[in-house]
This record gives sequence, structure tokens and C-alpha cells, in this order.
Amino acid sequence: MSILTQTVTRCPVCGANTFSYTEFLYDAPYFGNIVVSTGFCRTCGYRFFDVDYAESGNPTRVVFKAEDGDDVSKSLLIRSKTGSVRSPDLGFSLEPGPQAEPFVTTVEGLLYRALDYAERLKVLEPESAQRVDEFMERVRRAIDAGGFTLIVEDPLGKSVVVPRRPELVRIEPLGST
Ligand SMILES: [Zn+2]
Repeated sequence: MSILTQTVTRCPVCGANTFSYTEFLYDAPYFGNIVVSTGFCRTCGYRFFDVDYAESGNPTRVVFKAEDGDDVSKSLLIRSKTGSVRSPDLGFSLEPGPQAEPFVTTVEGLLYRALDYAERLKVLEPESAQRVDEFMERVRRAIDAGGFTLIVEDPLGKSVVVPRRPELVRIEPLGST
């Protein structure tokens, strides 16, 4: 990963000169060069995120297998607005929706999000606390030791896992099984 641009500039929403803007370049297997742009305005809180590819646009499914804890903490997930992320073996899925925020995080960061969500679910639905506890236990073990699969699907091919090791990822055209 290398940084192409890093600057503080005028916010497109509120006009204050407090908009931090960064562009990263990833050279990801299969996807080629990916430019990730992120921005955040300290004044109004506006966030910007975009992903661009040299060549892309095809519906893709990325199958990522984490074999150990390093694979979890050192692989990166880029999810665009149209991407869905699920893990059948851990038992969660994240669907795109009108409110979907694109994000870039480590796979570990994604699992911590799942834990946060589970905490909230426990408060909202105390009757399912035991099931949620089992889920959280499974996710914590996965963060430490890997041993699970993540499936990322995106009709625009803009969501990707940048794996710690190339052999952890398999990419298929979406629509095949
Ligand atoms: Zn602003």
C-alpha cells in the first residue's frame, strides 16, 4: 500500500477548510491497482469514501479463508456501497442497503463490528442472549485463531479482500455457484 495524496482541503459540504483527504494505492491480486479515497471533515462530520479500479466493473465473489490470527488482523476488507459480506461458518451477514456505508477495515475490524452489533442485539432481545453469547464466543475465537470463511459479493466488483497472503483468496465471477 502506498499513499498517493494526503491533504487538508475545503469541505464539499460545509465549506470549512477542515476536510482531510487521503488517497491510497493498493496493488491487489486479480484486481490490479486499486485507488481508495477517503475523506473526513472535522467541522461537519462529512465522510467520503470511494474505490476505483484500473480495470473492473464485473460482478465478483471473493472467497477469503482465514487460517490463523495473522490472516485475520493483517488482511484488509474494502466494502463498497453495493457489497455484501457474510460468513456462513461464523453465522453473520452484512447486506448492502440504502443506509449502507462503504468502509475499509481489517478483517479483524469487521469481526469487532459484528461483536458490537451482537452486544446491541443482546440488549434489544434479552430472550436470545444465550444464542448471541455463543455467536460472540465463536467470533472471538475466530479473531484469535482464524479458521473461517468470508464471502464478499459485489455486483459492481468494487468490494475486495486484500489478503495477507495471496493464496487465502479465490475470486469468482458472480452468478456462478
Ligand atoms: Zn464539512
